Amino acid sequence: MTGVGTHDGALERLKRDGRIVVVGASLAGLRAAETMREKGFAGSLTMIGDEPYEPYDRPPLSKQVLLGHAVADRTALPRRRAIDADWHLGVPATGLDMAARRVRLGNGDEVEYDRLLIATGVRARPWPNEEEGALEGVFVLRTRDDAEGLQRALAAGPRRVLVIGAGFTGSEIASACRERGLDVTVAERGAAPLVGALGGVIGEVAAEMHREHGVDLRTGVMVTGLEGGPAGRVRAAHLSDGSTVEADVVVVSLGAQRNTEWLAGSGLGAGPRGIACDAGCRAFDIRGIVTDDIYVAGDVARSPHALFGYQFLSLEHWGNAVAQADTAAHNMLSESSDRRPHLWVPAFWSSQFGVNIKSVGVPPMGTEILFTQGSRAERRFAAVYGYQGRVIAAVTFDQCRWLQFYEQQIETTAPFPPPFSTVDRRPEGNKPVPADFPDPSVPTHGPTITLSGYSPADRKMTFTPARH
Ligand SMILES: Cc1cc2nc3c(=O)[nH]c(=O)nc-3n(C[C@H](O)[C@H](O)[C@H](O)COP(=O)(O)OP(=O)(O)OC[C@H]3O[C@@H](n4cnc5c(N)ncnc54)[C@H](O)[C@@H]3O)c2cc1C
Repeated sequence: MTGVGTHDGALERLKRDGRIVVVGASLAGLRAAETMREKGFAGSLTMIGDEPYEPYDRPPLSKQVLLGHAVADRTALPRRRAIDADWHLGVPATGLDMAARRVRLGNGDEVEYDRLLIATGVRARPWPNEEEGALEGVFVLRTRDDAEGLQRALAAGPRRVLVIGAGFTGSEIASACRERGLDVTVAERGAAPLVGALGGVIGEVAAEMHREHGVDLRTGVMVTGLEGGPAGRVRAAHLSDGSTVEADVVVVSLGAQRNTEWLAGSGLGAGPRGIACDAGCRAFDIRGIVTDDIYVAGDVARSPHALFGYQFLSLEHWGNAVAQADTAAHNMLSESSDRRPHLWVPAFWSSQFGVNIKSVGVPPMGTEILFTQGSRAERRFAAVYGYQGRVIAAVTFDQCRWLQFYEQQIETTAPFPPPFSTVDRRPEGNKPVPADFPDPSVPTHGPTITLSGYSPADRKMTFTPARH
């Protein structure tokens, strides 16, 4: 189909009998496909996914599945509606020809498109030494198969589990191990768990939680090598402080890598930091020119956000994948004047050691933090991050009912420290302290938001989010 554009009835033709291809058949891909059908797209829809399964949900994999409360093959995402798609599962996309509007597949097939959505997400960063990473008993956790394998290994009752990296996933795995009564050591290069995502002040709270629940937490250390036994099974890890941890299960939880290699040489603006797109989810080509037929959504995208100084944000957040997919799908089927920006305020949740942790905004931008409600010592609090005199983010521990209030504070660029009093404010809520984020040039294992772009603007605007 040629001439699919934005005038002369071309949009109507696209909606009636155009060809839309979605690469990445997971949360963002599925939700976008559903939205397209909801918006009346009647043409052909092709879903390409390299995993052999229909879209499933990842958050339960490090929580209910590891605890044995849910099984990995029962995590399929609920369907909002039928999408009548041509599914290619277990087949990776291996190349993109932007001029011919064609996606190449690993099985040699080629699929043509009028609009393409890329939602290829991220994968777990593997252990850097391939031979050691291949030892039996060494795991990563990203996919259904990973979770199934790790769950089985935990159920077999290992003598000790070693988790390398104390970001959100690593911490949730350690929590699940303790809940199962297993001995677990966590080795983290940073000064505390969650330090990359939430800073050192909250990291200290997280460290206390680990230790009180019986985790052998080692911070400021790196695992320098894994050692296998004669049967090719891992038996120990060597740490940079000279110590050795004997473990028969090792979980490598070193963050994620963007799935963009398949786009190498295509001319699209894709690389290790993700695929750059505008606020309307349209991908940039390598020259920085926005494309009109290729869109991006979910963990693989990096897009500018007006509320955060137009910095490009890469988010590994479930809610972002859903919201961005919805916006991308809408814009793929709209005239340019009807397009919407993706201005979702980042929001994340985690449950570990019996505590519900939630955040809104961009904590790593925060230079200061203030406990505005509740108490740090009781580990039930709301804390607000400040940046250049404005509220930039908030985190709650078992206090999530206040999060919406803080989201509004972020959206209206409210002043920091908050000038008003709050319910249950304690003396510690009177004075902000440095948020204590590690130097961004020093990699940590757990940031779920990566900032890249211009320096953030100061507090000069009021943000009015579009609510559709
Ligand atoms: C264990 C775990 C726990 C999590 N817990 C939370 C949580 O508590 N809260 C929260 O907010 N978020 C959480 N997340 C993050 C959340 O699951 C992600 O933000 C979400 O899955 C992103 O969806 P996506 O569709 O963008 O990417 P993905 O879910 O990564 O899907 C991308 C898909 O594309 C496929 N793909 C990649 N390359 C190709 C290719 N070349 N061709 C075809 N297919 C390809 C991938 O295999 C994958 O199936 C968690 C993630 C994990 C792994």
